Amino acid sequence: MTASITEARVLVAGGRGIGGPEGFQMLRRVANLLGGEIACSRACLEAGWIDTAPQVGQTRKTVRPDLYLACGISGAFQHVTGMENSGLIISINKNPAAPIFDISDFGIVGSVEIILPALIQALEQYYSE
Ligand SMILES: Cc1cc2nc3c(=O)[nH]c(=O)nc-3n(C[C@H](O)[C@H](O)[C@H](O)COP(=O)(O)OP(=O)(O)OC[C@H]3O[C@@H](n4cnc5c(N)ncnc54)[C@H](O)[C@@H]3O)c2cc1C
Repeated sequence: MTASITEARVLVAGGRGIGGPEGFQMLRRVANLLGGEIACSRACLEAGWIDTAPQVGQTRKTVRPDLYLACGISGAFQHVTGMENSGLIISINKNPAAPIFDISDFGIVGSVEIILPALIQALEQYYSE
């Protein structure tokens, strides 16, 4: 993977909804399959879940990848301001009223614990054919 989230064409970003540091293992698998990088909300950095993935948002990086996959991110404006100009925004959130859906091209209402393993399985199958 490349080093910079500002240069990555695909970003797989995690928020508090991924549940803990182990959630980033799933995000890394998705990012690797899509040739992208991982990113995160400030909540994950503050929780100490990750210390390498740069934070997206008002106080850190502004990104504009072709695809931004937001996983368990609520859509606080401080985060959105750093990624809302991404080409395609797909969000996974268990709360159908999460603000992130307001700026998403596609929204998946469901738990990341269910959606992400299914996505990984589908991508692995796709790339093995
Ligand atoms: C001055 C200032 C500057 C800030 N700058 C930034 C910044 O640069 N970047 C930034 O990101 N934040 C920044 N913040 C913080 C920001 O306001 C939010 O608190 C933060 O972005 C929230 O992160 P989150 O979406 O990961 O967590 P939360 O707001 O807690 O949202 C978690 C989401 O996960 C969903 N969820 C929970 N469990 C699951 C599950 N199992 N499956 C799917 N979804 C689930 C919930 O429905 C919820 O929508 C700043 C705040 C301040 C005051």
